[in-house]
Order: sequence, then C-alpha cells, then structure tokens
Amino acid sequence: MPQGPTWTIGDVTVTSIIEIDQHWRFAWLLPSVTDDDLARHSWLSPDFVDEKGKMILRIQALVVESQGQRIIVDTCVGNDKPRPTPLFDNLQTTFFDDLVAAGFGPDSIDQVICTHMHVDHVGWNTKLVDGQWVPTFPKARYLFGRTEFEHWSKTDETAVYGDVMGDSVDPIVAAGLSMLVDNDHHLTDEVYLEPTPGHTPGHNSVRIRSAGQEAVITGDMIHHPIQFPMPDLTSDADTSNEGAVATRRAAFDRWCKAGLLVIGTHFAGVGAGRLEADGDTWRLVS
Ligand SMILES: [Zn+2]
Repeated sequence: MPQGPTWTIGDVTVTSIIEIDQHWRFAWLLPSVTDDDLARHSWLSPDFVDEKGKMILRIQALVVESQGQRIIVDTCVGNDKPRPTPLFDNLQTTFFDDLVAAGFGPDSIDQVICTHMHVDHVGWNTKLVDGQWVPTFPKARYLFGRTEFEHWSKTDETAVYGDVMGDSVDPIVAAGLSMLVDNDHHLTDEVYLEPTPGHTPGHNSVRIRSAGQEAVITGDMIHHPIQFPMPDLTSDADTSNEGAVATRRAAFDRWCKAGLLVIGTHFAGVGAGRLEADGDTWRLVS
C-alpha cells in the first residue's frame, strides 16, 4: 500500500503505515446503517464510503515519535496467520517492507502498544520464521493493558477470531518483551493512555499532548466516522454495546471541547479531523 497520512502534534509526529484498505458492507460491522443514513451523511464520500455505499475500513499501524521514542500503536492483522474470517485469513501484504521503507526498521521500534487485543490490532506483534512465531520488533517493550490482557487470557474466542493470543501475544510474553500497564500509563511525557472501555473491557485510546497541541488515536472505540453523527450505532464486535455507546458519547464531548485532532485507527482517506458539536451528536471536520 502507499504510505498513509502523517500528522504533527507539537513536537510529536504520527505516521500511518497502511496494511490494507478493505471495503466492507455496513451490514458486516454496523448493521443498522440504512441507505437513508448514507444519503443524509453524503460527506462520508469519497474518503470513508465508496461509490457502492460500502465502508472503507483502513487497517494501519500508527508510528508515534516522541522524545526519542518510536512507538507503534496497533499492529494490524499480520501475514501468514490462519483466521476463520476470509477477510483476515493468511494475509500476504507488503506491510513489513513498507514499514522498513518508511524508515522504521524493526530494531528501531522502542515500544508497541495495542489499544486492545482484537485480531486486527496485534497481528504484526509476531512474524513467522521457520515455522515459529517470533517477535517482529525484538528490541521493543510490548505494552498490553492489564484489564485487557486478563480478559483475553480467560476468554476463548478462537472460533470467532482464530488463535490470536497463541500466535500474536503469548510469544511476546514468552520472549520476556511484554509489560502489563494500567489504563493511565504514560509512554512518554507527551503520550499516554486514556481508558475507553466498551468495545472491549480494557480498551484504551492513546492521547498525545505536546507544545500546546493535542490529538487522540481512537483505537476501536469508534470504527467509522458515521458514528460521530450516529454515536449510538453498535457493532456485534463490541463486548458491551451499552458501554461502547456511553464511552463514545463521553469521549466525543471531551474531545470536542478540547478541540483536539481525532486520528481514527480505522479511518481511511484523510484519516483524521476535529469534532464540532451538532445538537447531541458530532460532526468530523477535516
Ligand atoms: Zn479493529
């Protein structure tokens, strides 16, 4: 894939390395979206909705550079991984080569943070070498939210997602590269976690604050920009629909008032914007 957008927030830079842009029927992820909704929110095209009315779902890693630290936020689906869903099964993308070509060699990554432990956020934690899953970033500290890690350690959704823990998390723990962190953990003085539970129990977003400027990397507390004007839309992928809605409404209100840049983990096209209040919902302004 061509390299994604980059953003500057004070002294921090964020670079998108795209694994794949997938075109999904809304019914697969946000089943209550209607054709009328898409017509009412025609601003979603062309960046976020294609000409056939499908959502464009970007799967990307965001490389955050702050105070000498190189941090990867979420590691996509990964190559060679057997997955029950054809969309993610045995992907063979150029993601790793693209990451290196962008100047982010695997040994240069200091920290990896997974917003949560779904299949499309932990994949490149590991890569397949001689039949073994080994850490892709051998010099990095991999940060997992304590609540999230404990949830997935006792929840078996292998039938739905594949052996995500077995091939993408357990090898990191076995290699001694993992660290469990609380949901207010600071990765640097400028980069820290903001708890946004609901989609999963220990879901975190990543906040950036530097030289008077602010941004947030959402993770999957929102999947698609149509959820700004329609924050009550829910997904079967949410552990708690109610929790996800409450988190979205509270966070969007906070982020709108702060005037910060919202970088969407699954947002295609320009990938980010600021929020404007519109009654009791929000608009994304690029
Ligand atoms: Zn996701």
